[in-house]
Amino acid sequence: VTQNASILPPATIPNTGMICVLVPIHNESGNLAVLHQRLTAALQKTGRDYEILLVDDGSRDDSWSIIKRLAAADPRLRGLSFSRNFGKEIAIAAGLDMARGDAVIMIDADLQQPPELIPDMIAAWEKGAMTVYGERIDRHSDGPVRKVVTQQFYKIFGAITDTNLEPKAGDFRLLDRRVVDALRRLPEKARFNKGLYAWVGFSSVALPYDHVDRHAGHSQWGFMKLFRFALDGITAFSTTPLRLSTYAGLFISFMALVYAIYFIIRTLLVGPDIPGYPSLIVSIMFFSGIQLICLGVAGEYIGRIYNEVKNRPLYIIGDQVGGTKPDAS
Ligand code: UDP
Ligand code: MG
Repeated sequence: VTQNASILPPATIPNTGMICVLVPIHNESGNLAVLHQRLTAALQKTGRDYEILLVDDGSRDDSWSIIKRLAAADPRLRGLSFSRNFGKEIAIAAGLDMARGDAVIMIDADLQQPPELIPDMIAAWEKGAMTVYGERIDRHSDGPVRKVVTQQFYKIFGAITDTNLEPKAGDFRLLDRRVVDALRRLPEKARFNKGLYAWVGFSSVALPYDHVDRHAGHSQWGFMKLFRFALDGITAFSTTPLRLSTYAGLFISFMALVYAIYFIIRTLLVGPDIPGYPSLIVSIMFFSGIQLICLGVAGEYIGRIYNEVKNRPLYIIGDQVGGTKPDAS
């Protein structure tokens, strides 16, 4: 810390601050006790004041009653329960709203990420990093299909948006209070956290870790959910798809013109061509397809505008335990 003191303004040296560990929870009853134990052990090692904030994202198992029981025994544990399942991104947004402390560390509940990395994350933060993220060393716990699709997604995302995502970074990360406050100023309803982290900027440091299999339970990200998530991410960070449809339209119109000229010349030279049926059907199908795709793309964005202008709250809190009760949600 002293080494950095000369190059950083005093406010950047957080050495007395409290840490908040934020965990989104959806049907994780089999993991909560071990998670709590390992988090506590890791946090006590740092010698800092801390709180553990568990956001129950509408679990249908007994996660919430386990959280209440753990909170009754541990004053450092706070729980927040949504009125229904709002999704992991929103659970994180709610956690960032409620988190106290000078840094917030986010980690999944399934122990695919090691809580034991937390002291190292805090050490990197003490040296001045605004963001410290865990960089997963392998993805062997994902199926081969998901692996390939994920890789392609990052490629496409990088190509059509101005925002560069770090492919090996997930939601296991430490955010300085300033980053948290910056994120809280982004009011959008369609949350794509990875893009938001990149958008707010700030310096970041990567810490590699072994990404292991879930401790208990199974991943809640089916193919469709991931696909929707990817679409949300791209449409939230780029209007290129809207422009692509314009380009496609221009290109096809041009081709149609070339084709028309060809037919006029051909008719003049060799007379009318009666068996033109296949080419007619093919072109009708092709153009209708393109039109539907363009309508769909425009619709995606209109839907997003609709969701934003409705201006509904991001989440509804149903219940809370531990800590001081904030004002009504
Ligand atoms: N999660 C959540 N809401 C959901 C789905 C998941 O809060 O609707 C939580 C889940 O409990 C876990 C984290 O998000 O703590 C990551 O979920 P998961 O392990 O299913 O994702 P994966 O590791 O497969 O990407
Ligand atoms: Mg997981």
